[in-house]
Amino acid sequence: MHRNVTICIAAAFALSVGSFFSLPVFGQTQLPAASPQDRALARDIFKQLIEINTTDTPRGSVTAGAAAMQKRFLDAGFPAEDVHLLGPDPRKQNLVVRLRAAAPTAEKPVLFLCHMDVVQALRSDWSTDPFQFVEKDGYYYGRGTQDMKDSDAALVATFLRLRKEGYKPHRDLVLALTADEEGGKFNGAAWLLRTHRELVDAAYVINPDSGGVELDHGRPVVADVEATEKVYADYQVTATNPGGHSSRPRPDNAIYELTAALNRLAAFSFPFEMNAVTRTYFENLARQETGPAANDMHAILATPPDLNAVARLSAEPSFNSNFRTTCVATRLNAGHANNALPQTAQANVNCRIFPGHSPEEIRRQLADLFADPKLTVKYVSDAGVVADTAPDRKAMVPPAPIPEVFEPLTRITQALWPGTPVTPVMENGASDSIYFAQAGIPCYGYSAIALERDDDRAHGQDERLPVDSYWKSLDFFYAFAKELSAK
Ligand SMILES: [Zn+2]
Repeated sequence: MHRNVTICIAAAFALSVGSFFSLPVFGQTQLPAASPQDRALARDIFKQLIEINTTDTPRGSVTAGAAAMQKRFLDAGFPAEDVHLLGPDPRKQNLVVRLRAAAPTAEKPVLFLCHMDVVQALRSDWSTDPFQFVEKDGYYYGRGTQDMKDSDAALVATFLRLRKEGYKPHRDLVLALTADEEGGKFNGAAWLLRTHRELVDAAYVINPDSGGVELDHGRPVVADVEATEKVYADYQVTATNPGGHSSRPRPDNAIYELTAALNRLAAFSFPFEMNAVTRTYFENLARQETGPAANDMHAILATPPDLNAVARLSAEPSFNSNFRTTCVATRLNAGHANNALPQTAQANVNCRIFPGHSPEEIRRQLADLFADPKLTVKYVSDAGVVADTAPDRKAMVPPAPIPEVFEPLTRITQALWPGTPVTPVMENGASDSIYFAQAGIPCYGYSAIALERDDDRAHGQDERLPVDSYWKSLDFFYAFAKELSAK
């Protein structure tokens, strides 16, 4: 999970996106499918990574996963000077691997950015052991099978395969396997940029932590490429009161005050918004959909948008989060004894802010909505520091979709999922792309993983990936890495 994002998108971007993505299929590409040996190795790497616990808990170690991959690269003959294991904490080491260009070149490398950490998973919540790699009914089960050890493994396998084949790229290809994207104090992407920029500097970043192919009952509907992100922000809402003996209740109860405010939030919706990325996304989706949903999508694209159609589509949580800033209460803490009036009641409100608004702007809007001068609304940073005000910084300007990336991405996607349009999207969550974007390096989020829309289990229980999806992503990254680094 992460933070910050966004902003306005230039009209030129809208034009280039619109004209670029309405292009027909780029011919027919025949993909060199992975051999049985390549697949066996890729499965073995996937299994190994799933079974190494990389949660930010006392049992977890990103270093263990990174070191296991380091060994594979060294055993495969990567020179030691091109395989770096490094980080600010013994349990949070990152791995950066470089497949060098055939000859020195002025062209900057392509960086594949992959986080190695996963969200905690409890055996008691799952039907299988989340840290065992289980193949069942055409799926791989395990924590990280969707987010994102699938892509970690596919890219490690791809780099090993390219090396084994003696492939000489025209420019350097770099793979960074990093710590603490999901949480924790040692975000590897930010740390590498800050302390070892030369290792991860690149023309652009491909981040498989987002994007991918959306399936509807097995039918590929659209291939999403992340072009912008919402801003992540937490707020601490607090009601305080002198309290007293619970045998003498008073109307100004801190818990009642807080819950009244949260009920206002539950009934509230931030205004509908659209930017060039979400507009292109819904334009592409409207072409794929049929029936009432398609009509509603056309209606929200009109000027002015049909707000009744917006309301109907908002019933789908993923559409709703693409339409507006969202804020939701996620934690509650109140009272100090069963027989005392509460002196403090506190909630965490988590917001995903639409590009163009700052966390401070949303903090003030929340305070206005609660309209209770006795409540405080404070900002909580990623590091957990509580402050009276929030950052004023707005999100990044989405990078233009450069043909050098989108042409091969579209062509290879078409070869694997024929007829599926590629569209830029706004990520509702957040990823490590934000650090590179802030450092001036364009980022494109694409996992090459095909998932049913209603089978997103990232961070949830019984996380799983269709076996076939894994093989396709393997073929995708092999072809894509070559296309990005061919002369
Ligand atoms: Zn992730």
